[in-house]
Amino acid sequence: MEKTYQGACHCGRVRFELTADIDHVRVCDCSICRKRGALIHRVPEDAVRLLTPLGDMTRYEWGSGTAKDYFCPACGILPFRRPSMPTREELEDGKAPFTGWAVNVRCLDGFDIFDAEERRIHRTDTDVADILPESRGL
Ligand SMILES: [Zn+2]
Repeated sequence: MEKTYQGACHCGRVRFELTADIDHVRVCDCSICRKRGALIHRVPEDAVRLLTPLGDMTRYEWGSGTAKDYFCPACGILPFRRPSMPTREELEDGKAPFTGWAVNVRCLDGFDIFDAEERRIHRTDTDVADILPESRGL
């Protein structure tokens, strides 16, 4: 069921609202997710309402340079990110670019992380083309 959540980093400097039906969370083993440990749910652009301007956050880009990870500059928590664009091979295979937000559900007030269905995203080799078939399109 769709619900509106209040989201924030640890210190509260970054705040946002999310309206979504969070029926699963993504647990990914790519190089950055392994270290960060975020639980991600992807939503369309308009599901997130930013209460803190993106310019007040720290942005980290790596790998293909197409993903954008937004951090609180004070406490270092990542509330959301822009996922990377598909590789050329994936675009040729017809995969549409994802244009929304990947939200870290650990930052949502009132969301029970132990109650969420986990979907494992296998990207250990960091190459987007290596996503296992059952993980595609999640
Ligand atoms: Zn903070």
